[in-house]
Amino acid sequence: MSIAFDVINPATEEVVRSVPLTTADGTDAAIARAGAALPAWRAVAPADRARLLRRFADAVDADIENLARLEVANSGHTIGNARWEAGNVRDLLNYYSAAPERLNGKQIPVSGGVNITFAEPLGVVGVIVPWNFPMPIAAWGFAPALAAGNVVVLKPAELTPLTAIRLAELALEAGIPQDVFQVLPGKGSVVGQRFVTHPAVRKVVFTGSTEVGKQVMAGCADQVKRVTLELGGKNANVVFADADLERAAATAPYGVFDNAGQDCCARSRILVQADVYDRFMELLEPAVKGVVVGDPSAESTEMGPLISAAHRDHVAAFLPDGAPVAFRGSAPDGAGFWFPPTVVTPTSPSDVLLTDEVFGPVVAVVPFADEAEAVAMANNTEYGLSGSIWTSDVGRALRVSRGIEAGNLSVNSHASVRYSTPFGGFKQSGLGRELGPDAVDAFTETKNVFIDTTF
Ligand code: NAD
Repeated sequence: MSIAFDVINPATEEVVRSVPLTTADGTDAAIARAGAALPAWRAVAPADRARLLRRFADAVDADIENLARLEVANSGHTIGNARWEAGNVRDLLNYYSAAPERLNGKQIPVSGGVNITFAEPLGVVGVIVPWNFPMPIAAWGFAPALAAGNVVVLKPAELTPLTAIRLAELALEAGIPQDVFQVLPGKGSVVGQRFVTHPAVRKVVFTGSTEVGKQVMAGCADQVKRVTLELGGKNANVVFADADLERAAATAPYGVFDNAGQDCCARSRILVQADVYDRFMELLEPAVKGVVVGDPSAESTEMGPLISAAHRDHVAAFLPDGAPVAFRGSAPDGAGFWFPPTVVTPTSPSDVLLTDEVFGPVVAVVPFADEAEAVAMANNTEYGLSGSIWTSDVGRALRVSRGIEAGNLSVNSHASVRYSTPFGGFKQSGLGRELGPDAVDAFTETKNVFIDTTF
């Protein structure tokens, strides 16, 4: 018997839709159907597979407003962000539609014959998605996986299945064959776990918490299953005294409070050179208070609610009475899982506000003395996903970029994610890279073939 999950609108607390949860048996059946669809899909001529992916992209493009409205209702994302997220799915499909015709092997000079390599698909790929960016993170996995000739089973987060379900419908409408791309709403402990343990699933792409990511990696080890992990972050925004301070302060709130801080790339630690710390805080306060928090469907809104009541409790627990709150922005009263943008100034390096991923609109600001201390503080975490460096000195920008142990750094900017550039974490922020020109490699195995030409 299947159980259903009530999807809640986090801005209103109303039920949006009830979604049946896939059972363990249902997961096995879907994996079997995916396996049956594999031979025909991998045999589709490269140009035809490319064309089908472009048709899928066109179908997403025609549905952007609908997908975006669905995400606003399901996840509380601002409508502006949600349109960007749907557009990102389209862009990924278009970008990786170029891959099938460019999966070049190599011809390697050897004696006695000809040696060639092939990029073979892995087979059934399981993609496990968190609730914070349901559309982009799904597509970072399924677009290059499908392009490389794999079939995909995808599990959205329990809280946010609606756009993934719609994307699967659009894929079918666009002509992607039945069972090549299946979306299985369900629990991590049931559907996600089955991706890990089922021998026919040859790779798991997991995005989520570091804690669950470690379990997934350990589980995959049993079958030497390929795994890509995109995990948590505690990213530093490093502001040097020689930076454009006005711009650094004006943009800092958006570097952390975008998506209500529920972003693995959120710059949740701002490290400011001591000489300009007081001035930076003076500039930061009006910028934080100016963040427009409210109805995510309104065009002018910059920050919506948190995803759930339980998550709001989790975020609030980081700020007990006596927490070092410097100032806060605003948030609506009444229904909805609201939390105001909050700036804290912890003094101990071991304060959880400096070590743990809050995953909400809370940012810690601390001073540093010099470049060496800034790099040491930025690296004083087990995470290593992203970060920003604000300086007008190009040499320093490059030195600090090389010094910080993180996969994605931006100078005088908070941009982290572009579909055409590689994305992923150092240390416990992940394993492997997604996006960019090489992502398809993570969905193929290299096969080497030697042909003896001596007789
Ligand atoms: P989570 O780890 O709780 O869940 C992620 C997904 O894993 C969900 O679909 C969940 O159902 C599933 N899951 C749970 N238990 C499982 C199990 N035992 N086996 C298999 N799957 C299981 O994370 P979340 O709370 O949904 O997302 C927030 C976390 O994701 C944050 O830590 C954030 O930093 C991280 N994240 C990382 C990136 C990145 O690219 N590095 C991007 C977005 C989010």
